[in-house]
Amino acid sequence: MIFGATGDLANRKLYPSLYKLFEKGNLSDKFAVIGVARRPLTNEEFQENIKKSVKSSIQKEDRIDEFASHFYYHSHDVTDSNSYAVLNNLANQLDSNYDLQGNRIFYLAMAPEFFGTIALHLKEDGLTNVSGFKRLVIEKPFGHDLQSAQELNDQIRTAFSEDEVYRIDHYLGKEMVQNIEVIRFANAIFEPLWNNRYISNIQVTSSEVLGVEERGRYYEKSGALRDMVQNHMLQMVALLAMEPPIKLTTEEIRSEKVRVLRALRPIEGEEIKEYFVRGQYDKGTVEGTQVLGYREEQMVNPESNTETYVAGKLMIDNFRWAGVPIYIRTGKRMDAKSTKIVIQFKDIPMNLYYSPEETLNPNLLVIHIQPEEGITLHLNAKKAGQNIAATPVKLNYANRGIDGLNTPEAYEKLLFDCMRGDATNFTHWDEVALSWSFVDKISDVWENQKAENYPNYNAGTMGPREADELLEKDGFHWWPISNFDVDKC
Ligand code: NAD
Repeated sequence: MIFGATGDLANRKLYPSLYKLFEKGNLSDKFAVIGVARRPLTNEEFQENIKKSVKSSIQKEDRIDEFASHFYYHSHDVTDSNSYAVLNNLANQLDSNYDLQGNRIFYLAMAPEFFGTIALHLKEDGLTNVSGFKRLVIEKPFGHDLQSAQELNDQIRTAFSEDEVYRIDHYLGKEMVQNIEVIRFANAIFEPLWNNRYISNIQVTSSEVLGVEERGRYYEKSGALRDMVQNHMLQMVALLAMEPPIKLTTEEIRSEKVRVLRALRPIEGEEIKEYFVRGQYDKGTVEGTQVLGYREEQMVNPESNTETYVAGKLMIDNFRWAGVPIYIRTGKRMDAKSTKIVIQFKDIPMNLYYSPEETLNPNLLVIHIQPEEGITLHLNAKKAGQNIAATPVKLNYANRGIDGLNTPEAYEKLLFDCMRGDATNFTHWDEVALSWSFVDKISDVWENQKAENYPNYNAGTMGPREADELLEKDGFHWWPISNFDVDKC
């Protein structure tokens, strides 16, 4: 059951992903989808919408009619108690028509204020009373702060146990985010160096070119810290910093990630200025077009105090990472769309190849998460010619084109994981709670102290000057994000 079946997420991501699973044979013929939304639609109209949504993102859709025939529609206001019984009857009928063995997945692709109500009704009206498995897939944001997340969790947990809740962080479905673990734990050359003896700092960037678009109302209350740092950025940090799990099971991996979040140094009060920078975009030029400043966008307060950019320095206080800063930055209306991790290794003890024109570059391992997918290792090698001089070289691996297949979309992987009951790439409540308690200490201060310098970066740039200073005071600088050329690999 997809709640919010006529919405943007369902149309852009869920239906095309389900179709790909169907086409690859990962979804058997024994499935049915009930779309739930407010708008009145017939099954036929709904099926036409499904076809349109699939066709808009997939070129080859030979089995589209067969696929769409598995979709049913139920018009229903989720706050209306009476309608759940009708929904349950439809579900029971489809259960027997398609031999579903009482297995049900409830996907909440709706505004978060409804999550609690829906979960309660699902239980009270018997929809979770099934003979097979029942799973709840829930979209971000999971709460607004620790307290609201806790309240939401309590409501959900009345109907579903923790291992039945699949909290989506779509970054965890991305191929190269999943690859972090393999790069680390399957290579003899990296894991021995993956600590404070050999790594000087780590930089995680997730930049967007887009502004706030039509999401001003939501974003005003959220800002970049809640929208990106609490979930995606901290999840990537946890994967980068965790200890090798003893087994690749959901429980073992999650418990290692939780230990990283527990070791994250809390940043509070006056320290926040030392560790975090906030920014808000002004007007500027993006890809040759003049764009508005954040305060001029729709549904945004002209004196808004909301941050559209965050840079921060995280410290993980454990044996492995003591003294290694992990810098994160994320923002809207930046110079390029890119999600990238740079691991900077420490300088070698002595440079034999120094020349006045060139200093030796540090070794970098760059993990390109999006839009390109790949790995680059920056080394130094001999410069061609008479003299022995060093010059930087890059070893590139581009994920694309290796096996002739497009890498599956994050939602395709996550939907498949959920059907198989693999919750590894979903966030456990403990991770959510620890992330919120870290972020809350910062957002509490930012909300109550007006940023006097907003707007402080122009659209189409890499953020405010203070974000550069955050690294400069430690003797580092941000590595550029646009240095990977897949076509030349
Ligand atoms: P949307 O506004 O496009 O769609 C909302 C859907 O909910 C519609 O189908 C609407 O009919 C339905 N709905 C609203 N009120 C209802 C009610 N009272 N009863 C029954 N149905 C009702 O929203 P969206 O962009 O698809 O986002 C859905 C969720 O996914 C949100 O939690 C959002 O934060 C999250 N999300 C969306 C995206 C995205 O790319 N759109 C990405 C990440 C997370």
